[in-house]
Amino acid sequence: MPALESALAGAFRSGERAKLIPSYRLESLKAELGRFRTEEALNGFQRWILDGLYKLDPPGGFPAASMIIIAVPHPFFSTVEFEYLGRAYRCLGLVMSDFESAERSLRAALPEGCRILAAKDLPLKRLAVQGGLAEYGRNNICYIEEMGSSFSLMAFFSDLPCGDGDWTGLRVAPTCDGCGACLEACPTGAIQPDRFLIDNERCLSYFNESGGPFPAWLDKGVHHCVYDCLRCQDSCPMNADRRGTAVGPIRFDAAETELLLSGRWLESCPPALAGKARYLGLRQWPDGVAKNLRAIIDANA
Ligand code: SF4
Ligand code: SF4
Repeated sequence: MPALESALAGAFRSGERAKLIPSYRLESLKAELGRFRTEEALNGFQRWILDGLYKLDPPGGFPAASMIIIAVPHPFFSTVEFEYLGRAYRCLGLVMSDFESAERSLRAALPEGCRILAAKDLPLKRLAVQGGLAEYGRNNICYIEEMGSSFSLMAFFSDLPCGDGDWTGLRVAPTCDGCGACLEACPTGAIQPDRFLIDNERCLSYFNESGGPFPAWLDKGVHHCVYDCLRCQDSCPMNADRRGTAVGPIRFDAAETELLLSGRWLESCPPALAGKARYLGLRQWPDGVAKNLRAIIDANA
């Protein structure tokens, strides 16, 4: 392991893993994504991700010699309970990684004078896989040994020079060979039996992270999370030992549930609700939360 990666491994407090990737790999990535754009039949969301979301160049003037990509662990999920009209409902929620703590550990471990800059719009999963930090599953989720899929990625440009390191093609984890548990578990048919890319416009998270209505074809019984969907990750053998890391329950009382359902909770959020919302990452998808809780109530009526 290169010296800086060893130093980082010692500095992180919560099991984070990090890789240093030379910034010239961004040129390979641009070429690969360009081929991907012309060779794959992409849906509108995938085209937007490629053309509107990703930014593959460091901001002008920043002397990026490398990128530091970090997998920050989190519990597999939290159980969530909420009260509505005298009745208790139960569902699941994602738990946010502690990015601030990971960044503090990173900064403390870097050599004096080293500069880093957050790189939020890089294709993080692809970088993690091609840089040798993670593997793709057939559900297009990333996995790391001993972490399963219970992590989120963050990246920084840095002025630290580094060696070539790993750089692989896109690859799917060997565990996926002959498996297919995620295909069977997926409630929307988003995972394709004969194709690497999932149809992300059919993924439940595509519908439940926005404020728009659910499509008529979607079964009412699929709703099980405050946002996102955990079915394919929960069925995956690479997560077999992650279930023990689940936490909760996080409870929303009747008043908090009313606020969440009103869709106006961001405007005036009591501290207790704000803390739970931060823990579960609800602020990322304010439009989806009310809709999803309502769907869970309706599905259990
Ligand atoms: S459920 Fe099976 S096929 Fe799907 S990502 Fe996990 S190991 Fe791969
Ligand atoms: S997150 Fe849910 S809907 Fe999306 S691919 Fe996985 S199982 Fe299917």
